Amino acid sequence: MTSKNPGTYTNIKIDDNNRFLYMFYAYGSSIAGWNHCRPVIAVDATFLKSKYRGVLMISVSKDANNQIFPLAFGIAESENNNSYEWYFSQLRNAIGSRENLIFLSDRHQAIANGIVKVYPESHHGICIYHLEQNLKRRKVKSEVIKLFQSAARVYRRKEFDIYMSDIANVDKKTYDYLMEEPSERWARSCSPRRRYDMLTTNIVESMNSVLLEARELPILRMMDFIQVKLQDWFYERRNKAEGIFYDVSCWVEEELKKRIDLAFTLNVFPVDSWRSRVEEEGIIFLVDLNKRTCDCFQFQLDELPCIHAIAAIKKRNIKKSDFCSHCKRMIKLLHIFDFMLSLLHQMQNLSMYLDVGYNRRKRGVSRTTEATPNNSSNSRNK
Ligand SMILES: [Zn+2]
Repeated sequence: MTSKNPGTYTNIKIDDNNRFLYMFYAYGSSIAGWNHCRPVIAVDATFLKSKYRGVLMISVSKDANNQIFPLAFGIAESENNNSYEWYFSQLRNAIGSRENLIFLSDRHQAIANGIVKVYPESHHGICIYHLEQNLKRRKVKSEVIKLFQSAARVYRRKEFDIYMSDIANVDKKTYDYLMEEPSERWARSCSPRRRYDMLTTNIVESMNSVLLEARELPILRMMDFIQVKLQDWFYERRNKAEGIFYDVSCWVEEELKKRIDLAFTLNVFPVDSWRSRVEEEGIIFLVDLNKRTCDCFQFQLDELPCIHAIAAIKKRNIKKSDFCSHCKRMIKLLHIFDFMLSLLHQMQNLSMYLDVGYNRRKRGVSRTTEATPNNSSNSRNK
């Protein structure tokens, strides 16, 4: 893999008896493209269903067009403290760290332990979908679940406090349950790092669902499947991206378009060359285009102009795309896809290695890359 893919990082850990323990790999194209993604990594694992069982660990980010960007894969006998600590240490070797890095996952304790140990400078946020599922299991009323959803999603801390006090008034038990989990880990307004629109881990779960049928395959065949899948995706995305003439990605353009009509109804009062007061339904929001901030907090937390910022930008007759995060620029998106396509051109199918593996096995050479039988619990505590 590494000889055919420049920059690819792989590692295998074996035990004292020379038996397979863990495996990790990140394609060179993922490593190169990562710096053009948002500094957000969603982590999840899925059970393998081939003869030797085990789990497939996946890390993904989001690209400039708001699409899944696969970062790294790992295989272990189960999700536990040792396997995650090794996985994250390999991830760190492969892609390093980034400023304002945030990990997102379900509430599996081994993931949290691994992140704290290997990436102490990062923040670890949890998926609000999993938290919501826990509330439903606790038979919490739908009215309270709606309040929780609002509390998790709002941009301003003041609004979060209002929703939480509403929950406390209606259902004190659920309020206490929610407060057991620090709000920095699940509420957007309390997170010390930007979560953008990633309040759930559904991007990594949708990746899992794409790889569903691959879970039945022996490990090398599964890797082959993943590789082909990644090639298809990035080939399609590159072609799509090339046909777009906006100077921001099509996702960003769509997001801005949705806000323009509403932005045009707002009153704008310029304060100085960068700052404006923008009135929405009698409430004044201060927008600072230089600092890229707004009192509504959406501008700074999503790194996309909110309706108030769009109104302020429009008043000054400047391009709104200049105020989108540099990560979202189309040119960088194309740059990422070029790296991905280099994978397509440079990589030889892993089947080549598979055939070698099969022939070796036929000759009675010992297996070195299959997972050991899984003797751990099959249930995940999320
Ligand atoms: Zn705003």
